[in-house]
Amino acid sequence: MPATHSTRMLILGSGPAGLSAAIYGARAGMAPIVVQGIQPGGQLTTTTDVENYPGFRDVIQGPWLMEEMQAQAEHVGARMVWDHIVEADLSRRPFRLIGDGGTVYSGDVLVIATGAQAKWLNLPSEEHLKGRGVSACATCDGFFYRGKKVAVIGGGNTAVEEALYMTNHSHEVTLIHRRDSLRAEKILQDRLFAHPNIRVLWNKAVDRFVAGGDPEGLVGLDLRDTKTGEIDRLEVEGGFVAIGHSPATELFKGKLALDADGYIEVETGTTRTSVAGVFACGDVMDKVYRQAVTAAGTGCMAALDAERFLAEMEFEASAAA
Ligand SMILES: Cc1cc2nc3c(=O)[nH]c(=O)nc-3n(C[C@H](O)[C@H](O)[C@H](O)COP(=O)(O)OP(=O)(O)OC[C@H]3O[C@@H](n4cnc5c(N)ncnc54)[C@H](O)[C@@H]3O)c2cc1C
Repeated sequence: MPATHSTRMLILGSGPAGLSAAIYGARAGMAPIVVQGIQPGGQLTTTTDVENYPGFRDVIQGPWLMEEMQAQAEHVGARMVWDHIVEADLSRRPFRLIGDGGTVYSGDVLVIATGAQAKWLNLPSEEHLKGRGVSACATCDGFFYRGKKVAVIGGGNTAVEEALYMTNHSHEVTLIHRRDSLRAEKILQDRLFAHPNIRVLWNKAVDRFVAGGDPEGLVGLDLRDTKTGEIDRLEVEGGFVAIGHSPATELFKGKLALDADGYIEVETGTTRTSVAGVFACGDVMDKVYRQAVTAAGTGCMAALDAERFLAEMEFEASAAA
């Protein structure tokens, strides 16, 4: 017989959104259970220097920040369980999640904080240089490339926004796109083409991220012309892959309203999803900002929304009785 864990507030995901919801939920007396998933601490555990999380004058390390958030959540009464959820039943309350070993987690309310993962080009050289010149987040890492030549790879809104953002740090930004036109909105394209420090290389695909220097880092990109097959080298010290993100919402297809890109839809200004009692926070519902601090902020909102929802339900139940 598989074990069942029940709580008033069930939280799925242990990145900044899930752990912030846990801190607020625990302090509101909801004894949250956090199902951590295969990446306890979330995306920040895959990076080193974090310079933009408020409260720290010195550079801090992503994994350290997440350990501290978890410790704080546990200190105020949240319980962490390591499991990966493979099934979700949102058809009635309490909601039920099932782990890959069959363990059942049930919650009067559910906070979904499963995040999103950046899409990569999946080149071995890209993997080798991640965090050493290759990044998927200009807002996070752009500051480390002050005064350096950089390239942004992609052709959609994200790529154009990242290229424009990088002009705050670099006088030489190259946008690399494998086609001869961009998918980005017209207004963004206009701003891109008007910018004196951005040039676009059309019909080019990255063949290889080139390593060099001591300590080793990115020194260039080998670019393949998608029409002629010719390879040219572009010298850059930063390469930002901006080809989109995949929100972790596979579990919720057909059960919650998702937008065309698969992000969970929430009522404007809240974390309420299309199912009453289910709340979403962090990168899984935010394709615009995608930062640790915004994830933590919406995590706080989700816990407060959930607490109010439960209070209303409990008030109605006692009034009816
Ligand atoms: C390399 C890198 C560097 C970054 N640097 C910065 C930075 O400097 N500053 C900044 O503000 N932001 C940075 N970011 C962005 C930041 O990490 C994210 O915005 C933030 O982590 C999003 O938090 P989240 O809680 O929404 O989701 P995530 O951090 O993605 O966490 C998702 C959680 O959900 C869990 N999960 C998913 N599916 C399941 C499942 N089926 N069952 C159980 N659990 C599941 C995972 O295990 C994980 O714990 C960086 C991101 C990356 C990748």
